[in-house]
Amino acid sequence: MERLTLRNGRLLVRRDGRYKLVEASLDIAQGVIAGVGPAHASGVHTVDVHGALVVPAFHNLHLHLGEAPFAGLRAPTLQEYIDQTERFHSRHSPTERERVWQDSAAWTLHEALRAGTASIVAPRADSAASLRHVRAVSLLPVMSSQKLRDFFEMADEDVRSWVASRLPLGGLFLHSAEYVSERWLKLASRLRTLHPAMWVSGHVGEGEASVRACEAKWGTDAVEVLSRHSLLGPRTLLVHGGGLSTRALRRLADTRTVLVLCPVSNARLDVEPPRLSALREVGVDVCIGTDGVGTGGTVDPLDHARMSGLFLGERDPHVLLALITSSPARFLGHGATGGTIAVGAPADLCFLAPDAVVEKPHTDPAEAIVWGGSPRRVGLMVAGKMTWAQPPISGPQLPDVSELAHRLRALWDGSV
Ligand SMILES: [Zn+2]
Repeated sequence: MERLTLRNGRLLVRRDGRYKLVEASLDIAQGVIAGVGPAHASGVHTVDVHGALVVPAFHNLHLHLGEAPFAGLRAPTLQEYIDQTERFHSRHSPTERERVWQDSAAWTLHEALRAGTASIVAPRADSAASLRHVRAVSLLPVMSSQKLRDFFEMADEDVRSWVASRLPLGGLFLHSAEYVSERWLKLASRLRTLHPAMWVSGHVGEGEASVRACEAKWGTDAVEVLSRHSLLGPRTLLVHGGGLSTRALRRLADTRTVLVLCPVSNARLDVEPPRLSALREVGVDVCIGTDGVGTGGTVDPLDHARMSGLFLGERDPHVLLALITSSPARFLGHGATGGTIAVGAPADLCFLAPDAVVEKPHTDPAEAIVWGGSPRRVGLMVAGKMTWAQPPISGPQLPDVSELAHRLRALWDGSV
């Protein structure tokens, strides 16, 4: 891959956990940041970013790509949300459901990239990610439901080859303990033994009703269910985590299992998110995900960092930014400097319009970016390659998605 230098940008660098802006050039080689400072190499390819703020791109470790038809759904509880989406799916043939899913995935990915997202972890992420240059961990969705019936009924051998063909960026999405069977837990366990690099993700503690349903089905909590099947560990991303006992949280910390918090989605479904202070006390690894647009509203990690701050009681913008950049990058295995602008980090960068800071009264750039309103994104680089850019920065432009959005709106008749 070519060497290149980014010029005329202001870089958001991190020192001792605090972000600050520096005016410097950025050298990139083989998709990795090779130097921060005055540009020196001559003859390398140069990208002029025209005064943009260069910040670490975002990593979204929990996203659903198929929820765009439910962007207008106002379900008061998780159960109501699931029931309504099930009714929607039962009215469509498998072929129609797949067409709707593809439209939804293309639109959702567009939104995620437009927001500056370099990595997504999502059920069937590879299908959408093949459209654009993005990092994607793709999970096989497992849930006894209308929409996922075909996957749920897959033969063990087909599941094994689905996962194996996507490693090290593949795995299983066990929707939640109350919606999966013993067969799937055993299969997941066998596959994890066979492929330790396999990812596992799933919802745990998404509200009291879900905690009760898990207890009723398995006689214990979801963390214990997964633990019994040897499914905890650093390549396991559990989502939500409300209502878990201290014992369960300790088990997550001891096994370095990652908890992806989605407090915006929780609030929309009247679910109590876990307290960040309690998670910190126990030492659980956490980051913030967006969930899908049906419950999260947007798939913009920065939006979610801002709103999560309110739900999690976290005011410090430096901490909130880390929860969508360096923390998830570390969980994805991007190394000690991953998710920051520093030598050795993957060159995953989001470009913000110059007015994101210079036209704000905030003295702290992290404060301006997180709390000062949604900054306009003008480009995204993933692994040293432009995924998209808006003139005057050169790079591929994002396609118009109004036709896609029109098709998705047309599905909505208000009766689901
Ligand atoms: Zn979810």
